[in-house]
Amino acid sequence: MTSPTKAPPLYPKSHILAASGVAALLSLALLVFPSREVEAKKTYLNLELDSGAEYAELQDDAESANTQARQSPFANTAATETPEEQPTAQAVEPEQTDPLHHIVRVENGDTLSTVFAKVGLSATTLHAVLNSSKEAKQLTRLKVGQALEFKLSEDGQLESLHSKLSDLESIALAKNDKGFSFKRELVKPEVQTTYSHGVINSSLFLSAKRAGLSHSLTMDLANVFGYDIDFAMDIREGDEFELIYEKKVVNGKQVGTGNILSARFTNRGKTYTAVRYTNKQGNSSYYNANGESMRKAFIRTPVDFARISSRFSTGRRHPVLNKIRAHKGVDYAAPRGTPIKAAGDGRITLAGRHGGYGNAVIIQHGQRYRTLYAHMNGFAKGIRSGTNVKQGQIIGYIGTTGLSTGPHLHYEFQVNGVHVDPLSQKLPMADPIASSEKARFMQLSKPLMAQMDKEKSTMLALNNQR
Ligand SMILES: [Zn+2]
Repeated sequence: MTSPTKAPPLYPKSHILAASGVAALLSLALLVFPSREVEAKKTYLNLELDSGAEYAELQDDAESANTQARQSPFANTAATETPEEQPTAQAVEPEQTDPLHHIVRVENGDTLSTVFAKVGLSATTLHAVLNSSKEAKQLTRLKVGQALEFKLSEDGQLESLHSKLSDLESIALAKNDKGFSFKRELVKPEVQTTYSHGVINSSLFLSAKRAGLSHSLTMDLANVFGYDIDFAMDIREGDEFELIYEKKVVNGKQVGTGNILSARFTNRGKTYTAVRYTNKQGNSSYYNANGESMRKAFIRTPVDFARISSRFSTGRRHPVLNKIRAHKGVDYAAPRGTPIKAAGDGRITLAGRHGGYGNAVIIQHGQRYRTLYAHMNGFAKGIRSGTNVKQGQIIGYIGTTGLSTGPHLHYEFQVNGVHVDPLSQKLPMADPIASSEKARFMQLSKPLMAQMDKEKSTMLALNNQR
């Protein structure tokens, strides 16, 4: 029993791989079967792997977007670039029949001064514009392809200037009695919901792309299911996903996406559900359709990219003391300075020197669980006794303080005050929906699941007709 108030037992802390042939073999096995060790650890996808194929598709998109833009030349005079869509589909300039109305598209090497010259405006006018207000200087930040729309008076003087920076932002300048007034206009997009479905035949990324999902939305989808599905190892041909998500629309055009509201993922025949729910305190999280948390209360490994250098055991020879001692934790070898993350939400009961543990952090997670992190080089900012931490929050960095022979994390996990092997624990789920909010949750969850059922059957019926 280790409690933060008592002096710690002088446990073994460090294990040099070469010191034990058995340990070496164990570690080798870990390298060959990495997924076993990180089974319950949330997996994050690196979707960049498929970027070659993605690029080809993006170019196709760019082609079609250009075509569409050409069909309606008057629809949009400014560059139609968005944060979501890479292709800069540039609309064709409207025919300039009005001599007092000019649209100049910024070219390489242009400055505000050259642009002004193109419409016949003098350096004096430029000077007056730039000195009219602090904000007006924003006009000098030009991007190639940006459209500037000028309106001139009969005698060729500047009446107004307007430029769309994105689908969501425009800047405008207008002549007034004193000179010019500058205005920045932000468009609030309309939020709509949309359904999407895909079957995986090569990679999640390509299937998601085909289903019209952006890169970031695909990442969100993978992260929602990241505790249950290892997207690097578990994905099989025929796996299926569907989701309802928010889409941001301006003038009928999608300019971005918002949150995933609900999703289903069938992996190797097993279906997982997810519903986004914001509780009465305003915290949003994903739960399965029955209101159980999607995330585990603990992540399995508090250090990324570490190697297990010693496992939990009831008796082994301590490398420093050279005596048989139990090893009541797991050691992760990693370079000095590697971040250490809180395994779960909780309250720090100790952050400081702790005997043979060196710089240590102890976190109390609810009534039953406690985790301990030892030999740290130092603590992360704001980490001290009495503060609350979130799962995954960095609490400190790998070091070799205390009774230790090399940089590593000694990690202990206690259930009701008893040390257990964190690697063999079946990890508990995070808190489910509070019972007081269960009804409210189900009112949200049921219609979303029903909507996905309906959308999917409609889609399948359409496919069968073809
Ligand atoms: Zn240890």
